[in-house]
Amino acid sequence: MTVESKRPVVFLDRDGTLNEERGYIRNLDDLVLIPGAARAVRKLNEAGVAAILASNQSGASRNYYPLSHIEKLHERLQSLLSKEGASLDAIYFCPHLPEGVMPELAISCSCRKPDIGLVERAFAEHPDLDRCQSFMVGDKTADLGLANNCGAKCILVETGYGLSLLESKAHLNYRIDYQARSVAEAVDWALLEISAQSHATGAKQ
Ligand SMILES: [Mg+2]
Ligand SMILES: [Zn+2]
Repeated sequence: MTVESKRPVVFLDRDGTLNEERGYIRNLDDLVLIPGAARAVRKLNEAGVAAILASNQSGASRNYYPLSHIEKLHERLQSLLSKEGASLDAIYFCPHLPEGVMPELAISCSCRKPDIGLVERAFAEHPDLDRCQSFMVGDKTADLGLANNCGAKCILVETGYGLSLLESKAHLNYRIDYQARSVAEAVDWALLEISAQSHATGAKQ
């Protein structure tokens, strides 16, 4: 496989990054896109950059709703995106939580962010993804930690918990490559970085 055929990838957090932070979403209607999110995902689609969800979803482990509800939320997410011509290339989520109450989900795993299991699964199942051109966009320390742990460029968004994270100074424990007002700005920056890298690569040839 040539270098050119590898696809850059942007991993996206869900709550507070793509859709508005509303705690555990029990009603499907409460999953509402952040303004500009669909357009941002569409830009990735159009640029040939993989857009992959990486999300911690412990609601089923806490018995707030069944695992099937999380799947329904993701169907709604894809449906809202598709109305604006956008789609996620893949959806990965961790349903585990050691202190949860559902025995099969109340486990210690390697896929709960900031652990890198979700990203590793994505790379294993999509061998065309370019590890050297990977980005992680999110609003919580778990997202920053995942980015730092897997070597992805780290983008903090100010939506969701982003601003309160900045106020708490907890972000200072992480290497952040870019701070964006929202996922729209995050994607614009990632696309600039990707195009800068491809020009640099082209110049060497
Ligand atoms: Mg979030
Ligand atoms: Zn997990």
